[in-house]
Amino acid sequence: MSKVDSIKQTWEPTLVYANGSFQPNAALVCDRSAQILDLVPAGDVQNPTLLKNRALLPGLVNAHSHAFQRVIRGRTEYRTANEKDSFWTWREMMYSAALRLTPEDVYDASRMAFLEMALAGITSVGEFHYLHRAPDGSAYDDPNLMAKEVVRAANDVGLRIALLRVAYARSGYETETNPRQVRFIENDPATYLKNLEQLERDLGDLDAARRIAWAGVAPHSVRAVPLDFLKEVIAVANGKQLPVHMHVAEQPAEVSACIAEYGRSPVALLATEGLLSERFTGVHVIHVTPKAIRMLAEARAMVCACPTTERNLGDGIVPASRFFNQGVRVSLGTDSHVEIDLLEDARELEYHERLQKTERAVLASADDKGQSALATRLFVCATINGAASINAPGGSLEPGRTADFFTVDLDDPSIAGASSDDLLSAIVFSLSRTAIRDVVVGGKRIVEDGRHAQQDDIVERFKALQKKLWG
Ligand SMILES: [Zn+2]
Repeated sequence: MSKVDSIKQTWEPTLVYANGSFQPNAALVCDRSAQILDLVPAGDVQNPTLLKNRALLPGLVNAHSHAFQRVIRGRTEYRTANEKDSFWTWREMMYSAALRLTPEDVYDASRMAFLEMALAGITSVGEFHYLHRAPDGSAYDDPNLMAKEVVRAANDVGLRIALLRVAYARSGYETETNPRQVRFIENDPATYLKNLEQLERDLGDLDAARRIAWAGVAPHSVRAVPLDFLKEVIAVANGKQLPVHMHVAEQPAEVSACIAEYGRSPVALLATEGLLSERFTGVHVIHVTPKAIRMLAEARAMVCACPTTERNLGDGIVPASRFFNQGVRVSLGTDSHVEIDLLEDARELEYHERLQKTERAVLASADDKGQSALATRLFVCATINGAASINAPGGSLEPGRTADFFTVDLDDPSIAGASSDDLLSAIVFSLSRTAIRDVVVGGKRIVEDGRHAQQDDIVERFKALQKKLWG
C-alpha cells in the first residue's frame, strides 16, 4: 500500500511544533492507526482538518498521578496540628479519604482528574496506584478491581495510562502498622507479583490493538518496601522491561530512617544494590547529595519532579539544575492534583530555583542562548522525558510516533502577540489552561473547542461523590 492510500487523517494548523521549533504552513499526516507519517507543506494534501489560528504541539505526559486524591482538593488547606502542619499531617487527612472510597467512587474521582488532565493538554498519564484492597483490608475477588477502575476511567476520558502498580509491604522501619494503610498492603512479593501478572494479562486484552493501557512496577518507597522485597520485584520488572517508579527522598525523615536501617541514603541503597537502571524513575528526589545525583546519572536513571504538589506539601525544592548538569532526565507529574496544569509544573521547576538562588534562567544551557532555549528544555521534561519515563508512545511529533497532541488558540490573551521564535516561551511560562482548544489521542479528538464530550456527566458524578464524602 502506498503512503497516500494509507493516509487516514491530516491536520493543518497555523503552526506545528516539531524538531524543536514552530513551523508554519505545514500539515501533520497520519495513517489509519494514527501513526504520524510525515509533516508536509500545507496544500499538498486533500481535505485536511483545518485548525485555524492554532499552534499544534505534542501532547503532555504526566508521569506521576494519584487520581483519587482529587477528592481532597481544597480540604487540607488549614492548620490541624498544634505545633506545625507538614507532609505527615496532610497524609493522615489523605488516608482518611482513601479509606472510604468504593471502586465506583474511585472511577468517578479518577474520571474527574483525567478530564482535567485532558483539558490541560495531557495525553498520557502514569498512575501510581496503591489502593488495592477493601476498606477492611481484605482482598477483592479481583485483586486488581481498583486498578482497573482507574484504567477504565482513563480510557473513558480518552487518555493513555501506565498503571504503575504499587508494592507496599509495611508502614516503615521499626514502625507499628498504621491501620489506615490496610488498603495498600500486600505483605509478600509472591502475592504482589501474582497480581501484577494478572493485571498485565487483563490490560493486554484491553490493549490488543492500541497501546492505551499498560502496567509498570512501583515499589512505594524504601520506607514501605524492605530491601529483599524490593530486589525481587525490580528484578521481575527488569526481566519484563517494565517501567519502575518509586518515591525517593521526598522527606528528610525518609532519608534518616533509611540510613538508620541500612547505613545508606535511599539513592545510595538503590545504587549499591544495583537497582537503578534507565527504566527507573525516582519520584521527587529532593533531599539528595551531589554524590547521589552522580549515582543516578551513572545508572541513566530518571527523576520525576512534581513542583506544584511539592510546594503545596512543603516538601522542598527539586535540585533540577544539578540534575540537568549531570544529564539526569527530569519528567513532571501533577501528583496530588492540588492543581492539574503540567506547564505550571514545568515553569515551577525553574522558578523554585530562581527564588532559592536569586538568579534568572537557572536551567538554561550555557551554550544555547536562543529566545526559547530554556522553554525548550522545560517542554522536553513535560513531553519527551515523561514518555520515556512511563514508556508511552507519544512525546514528540515525529514520523513513527503516535498522533497525540494539543492545540492552543494563538489569540488567547495569555499568549497573543507571540512570534514563532518566542511562542514556546510564552506557552511554557504564561499559557492559561483555557487557551487549550483541541486534544487528540491516537488520532481521536477527545477535547474539541476546549470541551470534552462527557464533561457535564463527569462533573455531575464527581459533585455527587463529593457530596457523599463530605456532606
Ligand atoms: Zn506520589
